[in-house]
Amino acid sequence: MGFAWKVQPMSATNAQKAYRCPGCAQLVEPGTAHVVVWRDDSIFGDRAVEDRRHWHSACWRVA
Ligand SMILES: [Zn+2]
Repeated sequence: MGFAWKVQPMSATNAQKAYRCPGCAQLVEPGTAHVVVWRDDSIFGDRAVEDRRHWHSACWRVA
């Protein structure tokens, strides 16, 4: 079984916090355009939103 993933681009102007990228374990620095990814899992609904991960765009493409 598989899951669908939601991927939303985050623009540099909206990226105001640093996040840990799960792909490379480096920080996504504030002001860096990147992608927000979360599992589209209707069972867990709201929890899935809390489980959002911030990836470097390049890291997500190769993941
Ligand atoms: Zn990364």
